[in-house]
Amino acid sequence: MDKNLESRAGGKCELCGAEGELQAYSVTGTNPENIALCSTCMDSIEEPLLNANHWRCLGESIWSGVPAVQVASYRTLKKLSAEGESWANDILEIAYLEPEVLAWANEGIQSEESGEPTKDSNGTTLNEGDSVTIIKDLEVKGAGFTAKQGTKVTNIHLTNDPEQIEGRVNGVKIVLLSKFLKKV
Ligand SMILES: [Zn+2]
Repeated sequence: MDKNLESRAGGKCELCGAEGELQAYSVTGTNPENIALCSTCMDSIEEPLLNANHWRCLGESIWSGVPAVQVASYRTLKKLSAEGESWANDILEIAYLEPEVLAWANEGIQSEESGEPTKDSNGTTLNEGDSVTIIKDLEVKGAGFTAKQGTKVTNIHLTNDPEQIEGRVNGVKIVLLSKFLKKV
């Protein structure tokens, strides 16, 4: 474990406060960072339900001044809450994370949940393979043409972004904004 982490932790697990042998645990994300964990935390952080009561310590660590500790606490509480541990949800409801810390905490969580539905201009949910019409003339950047109002696009493909779909117009595969489409 590197010296900075060691001195920050001060010989105590950064999640539960236990003293003893500490190991570095990497909190994943765009800028991953290590936190110092005891062996009990290390052993069950990936599957916290195995030792659910131990994790009541997160009620304190979620308020840590160290963002990486908050992120690890938040993610672990989310897992517990998703498994029906209502006390974990209670902690999450009163917890406050700075917006950038919250964004970090949610990295990797959102990809596991099914995202927002893709909806057309009327709020109708669009599904993979649907047909739509374009409700206003759209200049297609880079393709050098305008997708005309009323053009029908068949067999659309959903993307990770609920605001965008892919479809073929004039034989060219392009990205279209779902708010300018209407399901046929
Ligand atoms: Zn611990």
